[in-house]
This record gives sequence, structure tokens and C-alpha cells, in this order.
Amino acid sequence: MGIAKRIVAGDLRAAARLIRDIDDMVPEAREALKDLYPFTGKAYVVGITGAPGVGKSTLVDQMITHLRKAGKTVGVLAVDPTSPFSGGAILGDRVRMQRHSMDEGVFIRSMATRGAFGGLTQSTRSAIDVLDAMGKDYILVETVGVGQDEIDIVQSADTTLIVLVPGMGDDIQALKAGILEVGDVFIVNKADREGVDRTVNDLRLMIEMDEKRYKNGWKPPILLVQAVFDKGVKETIDEIEKHAAHIKASSETRSKARYEKVRNGLAEMIKDRIVHEVFSDLIESGEFETSLQLVLDKKIDPYTACDTIISKRLRQGSK
Ligand code: GDP
Repeated sequence: MGIAKRIVAGDLRAAARLIRDIDDMVPEAREALKDLYPFTGKAYVVGITGAPGVGKSTLVDQMITHLRKAGKTVGVLAVDPTSPFSGGAILGDRVRMQRHSMDEGVFIRSMATRGAFGGLTQSTRSAIDVLDAMGKDYILVETVGVGQDEIDIVQSADTTLIVLVPGMGDDIQALKAGILEVGDVFIVNKADREGVDRTVNDLRLMIEMDEKRYKNGWKPPILLVQAVFDKGVKETIDEIEKHAAHIKASSETRSKARYEKVRNGLAEMIKDRIVHEVFSDLIESGEFETSLQLVLDKKIDPYTACDTIISKRLRQGSK
């Protein structure tokens, strides 16, 4: 049986292996992904992002428990662009989630490869497809940090949670750049700590100011959560379900959301592929170094170097 059929039939080892191949950017993984694609599109994908230490994996761990109690199957992808490890190992910090590892309804993997030229967003999207084809009801994608990579990654989610903690002060201002726009639900975790009101007020102000962004009628709620004490976790899931219902309620919103998702996915895939193929060839052939040296020696300018490289490759066409 092909790997895709085995995954659809629930073969965990086949799924783990394909995710590892995706993470390692093994080209053959693409063929399996093509076969899997018709089986995707059923899972609900939730992105969870926020700075390290805010309590994302604690929250995810608790969410798994609630979702399992409700009879849902869950896939988890922990995405860590800063980690040198790959191969689907569970990262040190995610050890607590291992309490779910004996539960057949839960499948947890890590993505870590940051290829020399990116690629993590694409490999995460592909891994989401694998979990989706496996038949998981919910896929929780947890990222580390709040950089551009994370923003790109959470954009493949149906609902995005942004996790903060009290007392972030100026950090909230910094969040404004990009992340606010992708947040569907804001979580102020560690609400047992001082400074909750201020953080909530700051957030509320920013959301109010940005109201024009929420044209589709969804105003992101702010939830107070104490993940470690399982407070507010059920409410978090309720909000995710409300958001899901909101998207489904209007066919216009639904088709717009699907359009955006598929469009971003395809654009990302093409960009990723071009960068990957052109760059690996440039590096392997030594042409990049040669051009770089010419620019460093001021023999040519970078614009001309770029023109030469690109026009040569466009003439060659795809190999
Ligand atoms: P991540 O890096 O965002 O995944 O954060 P973790 O889930 O690893 O949590 C970081 C630390 O915060 C851990 O020691 C947790 O026990 C702690 N933590 C998580 N949620 C809460 C909370 O609601 N209140 C308090 N006081 N600590 C929490």
C-alpha cells in the first residue's frame, strides 16, 4: 500500500515518517502529499502563538484534555524555528504533553527545520495536511515566538490565538506590527499575576483602534486564562467554536476564508519552491559565491549580479 493510503487508514508510523521527510525536505514527500491532498480539508486548524514562556504549551496541553473529553481527536504540531533539532522529536519543553502520548486520539509532532532559505512555513502546511488526512478533528499548531515566520505559519490556521501575559507593557506596542491583525482570539494567560487589567485595557484599546480590520464582523475577544490551573481553557475552546461558527455562518465569509487560505498556501508553495530550487543550484554550483565576491570587490553592482543570475535561470527554464 502506498504511504498516503496507509496514513488515511490510520497508520501512525507512516504519518510520523512522512512528517519527518517533510521536515527534512526529502523531495519524494511531495508525491505522497499529492496523493493525500484529496483527503484533506476536514480538520479545524488552530494556531497558537506568543513569546516563549507565556504558557502556550501548557495551554495546548490543557486544550487537548478538554477536546478529548468532548470526543474530538487532536493533532498537535509544535513549530520551533529556533531549534536545531528536526525529525519530529518532541521538544524538551513539550515533554508535558507526553501524558497524552498513550492516547490514540492524540498525535503530537514537532517541526524544526529552518532550511537555509526558509521553508518552515511550507513544511508546516504540509504537516498540517498529513494530520488532516489522518482524520484529526482539531489540529493545534503551536509556534515559538512572534516573528514573521510565526505570523506566516499561523495564517494557515482557521482560528489564531495570540497568547500574552500581564505586564508586557511596551511589548504590546511591539505586537502591533503584524500579529494583531492575525489574532482571532487574544489570551491573557497567567491571569493570576499582577497587571492583568492594564494588559487587557491596552489590548482592548488596540483592538478598538483597529476596528476597520474586522470588517467581516468578528471582533477578537480577550480571555483571561490560567492555563496551569485549567482556568479559562474551556472558555478558550468555546471561543474557537464560536469563531468557527462565525466563519461558517455566512457563505461569503466562508468562501472568502477558503479563498485566502488556498491562495496563501499556493503562493507560499510557489515562492518556497522557486527560492529553494534557484538557491540550491546557485549555492551548489558556486555561482552565488562568485557573484558575491565580484560585488564585494566592486567589480559589479548587486543589481547587475542579480539580473545576470535571474535572467540566466529564466532562460534555462525548469529543469
Ligand atoms: P511556552 O514557552 O509559551 O510554551 O510556555 P510554557 O507552557 O512552557 O509555560 C512557561 C511557564 O509558565 C511554565 O513554568 C508554566 O508552568 C507556567 N505557566 C503556564 N500557565 C500559567 C499560569 O496560568 N499561571 C502561572 N503563574 N504560570 C503559568
